[in-house]
Amino acid sequence: MQDILTICNYCGCGCGVYLSVAHNHVVGSYPSRNHPISRGNLCSKGWHLHEFVHSNKRLTDPLLRKNGVLEKVSWDEALDTTAKALMAAKEKTGPDSIGVLSSAKCTNEENYLLQKVARAGLGTNNIDHCARL
Ligand code: SF4
Repeated sequence: MQDILTICNYCGCGCGVYLSVAHNHVVGSYPSRNHPISRGNLCSKGWHLHEFVHSNKRLTDPLLRKNGVLEKVSWDEALDTTAKALMAAKEKTGPDSIGVLSSAKCTNEENYLLQKVARAGLGTNNIDHCARL
């Protein structure tokens, strides 16, 4: 068992949390006593931080709705379809008609890159994140 200090990624508070890892699996989470923000506390989301990592409910392939039914597709097809739809919306109704939602399950770096795609690529400032409470 190994305990690794990290930052809870569920919201912008930035609580310090240890993830317990056994046999390359994240099996638990508990608060860091010495962390200057959380000082030994976590909310219920932080206490359950580890549970999504290996959940069998996580999507591992892109899905595309075809004739009302979600179908597993390749990343190339998913990205091509998404890019075409976003460009069509931008041409038809302007960049501010597009909104981008990111996720607390992404790293800070991934979220940074997504806001770059939104602002510099798509030309919209409509970018938000589920953890902005
Ligand atoms: S979700 Fe809870 S534990 Fe995680 S950073 Fe926010 S307040 Fe802290």
